[in-house]
Amino acid sequence: MELRFFSKDLIPHHYRKKYQIHTVDWDGTSLHFDSMIPVPIEVQNDILQELGLEIPYKKGEHTTLQGDETLECFFSYAFQRRTTDIHFEPQEKMVSIRYRIDGLLHPVDSISHEEYQKMTRVIKLKGGMDITENRLPQEGGFRHESCQFDIRASIVPSLYGEKAVLRILPVCNQLQKLELLGMTEFQMKFVQNAVRKRSGSIIVNGPTGSGKSTTLHAILQELDCTSKSVLSIEDPIEIVDPIISQFQVDEALGLTYAEYLKRVLRQDPDVILLGEIRDKETARLACEASLTGHYVLSTIHTKTTADVVLRLLEMQLEPFLIADALQLIINQRLIRKSCPYCSVEEKISPMYQKVFHVETQKKGRGCHYCNNTGYLGRVGLFEINQISEKARDFVFSFLSHANVNQCMQLLNEGIAFTMKDHATDLIKRGLTTYQEVLPCL
Ligand SMILES: [Zn+2]
Repeated sequence: MELRFFSKDLIPHHYRKKYQIHTVDWDGTSLHFDSMIPVPIEVQNDILQELGLEIPYKKGEHTTLQGDETLECFFSYAFQRRTTDIHFEPQEKMVSIRYRIDGLLHPVDSISHEEYQKMTRVIKLKGGMDITENRLPQEGGFRHESCQFDIRASIVPSLYGEKAVLRILPVCNQLQKLELLGMTEFQMKFVQNAVRKRSGSIIVNGPTGSGKSTTLHAILQELDCTSKSVLSIEDPIEIVDPIISQFQVDEALGLTYAEYLKRVLRQDPDVILLGEIRDKETARLACEASLTGHYVLSTIHTKTTADVVLRLLEMQLEPFLIADALQLIINQRLIRKSCPYCSVEEKISPMYQKVFHVETQKKGRGCHYCNNTGYLGRVGLFEINQISEKARDFVFSFLSHANVNQCMQLLNEGIAFTMKDHATDLIKRGLTTYQEVLPCL
């Protein structure tokens, strides 16, 4: 049977209802469902058979592992939906499955413990873990057959069984340009001016999963990497950048951030991207490198821009090192974008009109593109702090007065465009809602 266009009306009603199928595509060899609940391979084959189409996965044709098809089914559903993590959560009677999409977890399905055990066996086998071990936490990873995604698996025993979390990392195509991150032109100017200097450092701070690595790699795109030696030390390498040399931290081999940094500094780099500053030794080396003719980009896990300086002081770094090395601190969050398919203009309540100085916003009503959440995709919320001379002098002589409050105050004076200013800008541009930005302010 030759079929080019596929209507969901061809699907038997009970399947349409059960899996809440919105649309179906037939590419000549397989069916692609856009449904609220993943459609198992057996059901897909059933549907194909009823329509007289060829079955791509005949029973017995592939010697697949038990549980592999179920896992594959969850993967294909996840890949279609920009899912970043799949959570398998064993409960008393069933195992519930939730997907993290645009930063929030959404319930997707639940399966029996029996089916789940077969699947964890497959995850362990593929991820290079011990399949006989189910009492200790294990970690592993593998590349998906499509070669487009790397899967990082973490399995930890819990009350009703092993809880597995699969992180989905696209293999390529993650490099983004600075102008696509959501910064205003005014903010971008600060970043572009900073990276053109020959030495110094930019620190990006924010919580886990706030897009710090994406921002660092986007900043690198602003540099003329062909005439410079650019390298990165990361753990893990999440974004593959073909024009720079990337090094993966391996603590088991003794290749820590600090150790790698010492080695690569002998390789005459111009720019160093350091995935994270976690300890005193790395912090010191990074500061020293940025004072000796290298440009250093890194991240620190703190809440505000002023916290970055305090964290470095807590690490007992000499204040003069911090004062001289730091140039620009970028504070970042990721917020959800209003769904372009179902957003309508609405009036903001008078109280929040006063807070944001905006009268209306675009808010999604919920549709099948956005899983009825009203939000689709994410955008960065930024605050850029160019350390002022006054703040620098104060940090420089910090030990003689040690006034944290005054230090914070002076540091905050360097913020030209606050996170709230940026939030207002994003609401005005119809990209998000005040409800979405409020928890970040
Ligand atoms: Zn929508």
